[in-house]
Amino acid sequence: MFSRILSFFYSHPCSHCGHLDFLSNRFGVCIHCIRKRRKFQRDHFDPSVCSVCSHKREEGKDCAFCSSRFVFFSRLEFLHYRFPWEKETFQMCKFQKERLLSFYFALDFRRKKISKRQIERPDAIVFLPSGDLKSGRGYHPAEILGKRLALKWKIPILPGVRKASHEKQSGKMYRERFFHAKKAFLFRKNDRMCNGIHILIIDDIFTTGASLNEVARLYLENGASRVSCMVLLINEGD
Ligand SMILES: [Zn+2]
Ligand SMILES: [Zn+2]
Repeated sequence: MFSRILSFFYSHPCSHCGHLDFLSNRFGVCIHCIRKRRKFQRDHFDPSVCSVCSHKREEGKDCAFCSSRFVFFSRLEFLHYRFPWEKETFQMCKFQKERLLSFYFALDFRRKKISKRQIERPDAIVFLPSGDLKSGRGYHPAEILGKRLALKWKIPILPGVRKASHEKQSGKMYRERFFHAKKAFLFRKNDRMCNGIHILIIDDIFTTGASLNEVARLYLENGASRVSCMVLLINEGD
């Protein structure tokens, strides 16, 4: 009976386990799954991360990501490690434009150390164009995060670079991604307003960093003084 009343008012079951509660209705994921993720995050928190790209690195060794290429952004922040079960949830968020899940992925951003961490207030935010957006007003999985940050820092969201190629990055080999990213983005004329400012690029997921790195390079080339990145999820061990 209770669950029937619940489903009358709340209609969105957890996209991971199907459980229905207040939080699943609100964020697309239920309280149990949210608790599980928080516990995991606490238990696995490792302070020995690279100060530039936030990847884990072995003690006493150089960061594998940063030393394997030119890194154009000066800092990468992420909200979560991506859990295996979140892969599907995330795809749902991306392809079915589940706006609800975008709230879920932005959930812990306040209590996370974003304000305490070294990320300085940028001057403007841009979104990395999402490869799967259809033409027209698209929806970005990191939209909620971007808007909250813009509000918090009282900074504008700039239009950002345009996608030049409609090929998808996902599914490509590591090496291919780097070659592909090089010609994937176009700098817009009106982006010249980024002269001398600190840009924060926001994206949904960090896999190889090829796109983020290339867009960071474009902004630096066109006058930005500094580029930082923030992503919702980071892939561990990819
Ligand atoms: Zn659940
Ligand atoms: Zn690094």
